[in-house]
Amino acid sequence: ARVTPYRGQGRKSTGTVAILTFHDMTAIKRSEQMRADFVANASHELRTPLATLLGFIETLRGPARDDPDARDRFLTIMHDQSGRMARLVNDLLSLSKIELDEHTPPTGRANPLMIARSAVAALELKAAARKIRLVLTAPERLPAVIGDDDQLAQVFQNLIDNAIKYTRDNTEVRVTLASTGGRRSKPMVSIAVADCGEGIARTHLPRLTERFYRVDPARSRALGGTGLGLAIVKHIVNRHRGQMTIESDVGKGSTFTVLLPVAADETLEADDSLR
Ligand code: ADP
Repeated sequence: ARVTPYRGQGRKSTGTVAILTFHDMTAIKRSEQMRADFVANASHELRTPLATLLGFIETLRGPARDDPDARDRFLTIMHDQSGRMARLVNDLLSLSKIELDEHTPPTGRANPLMIARSAVAALELKAAARKIRLVLTAPERLPAVIGDDDQLAQVFQNLIDNAIKYTRDNTEVRVTLASTGGRRSKPMVSIAVADCGEGIARTHLPRLTERFYRVDPARSRALGGTGLGLAIVKHIVNRHRGQMTIESDVGKGSTFTVLLPVAADETLEADDSLR
């Protein structure tokens, strides 16, 4: 069969295809690069505690074999390092699971106040150890949100845990729930977690939710951080069709605010949105 080319059009469409391919390749390259960086970072994060563990195991098998004091000290360090690896693996698994269903919004209803209460209860001891008070404030009536209980629990826990980690001893971490929006804009529930810590310089804010991005990596590690907490929060909030904003004053503290859409069959009274 003979193919008759469409002259003018053929050229135009070849050009268009070429440009599209070029864009696609750039996007593919970028995402390949991001994936490679992620694997390299994750491997590096795992390799450090693993090397420490191997080192101590060798010492315990050799020079420290008959030294009970050294054995106790080394076992404590090995326990901490294994904990660090376990946290990292758990966070990596959470992240990959959330990424898989990020495009399928949740269908259930979740009670934000109940989730906030359990997150505060779970972290109260950790806060008390540094004389930090966790203060939860919420209106009497708060609508349900569209959400997955377990994932929203993770959002609260990660934000409150960070506030505790990065705030000063003897201060307050405030968790404030409220109804926002109303007659004109979409009704939402806002969840604000505010601390009185050192704050975050403006230059870091846009990159804070990237995986493994930390303002001070050594400090984050010393506090038991994996560098994945806010990336997990971001993906969960995206899946819930919500929004997150970060406000911070260096030297004064930071406020992380998450907005979540109210479940469709919830009728918000005008009064609720004014509270
Ligand atoms: P990490 O495990 O390091 O805490 P996250 O992803 O939770 O990882 O947070 C990324 C970085 O953002 C932290 O390392 C820290 O530098 C900064 N950060 C997060 N929350 C706060 C906060 N409440 N105050 C100050 N810095 C914070």
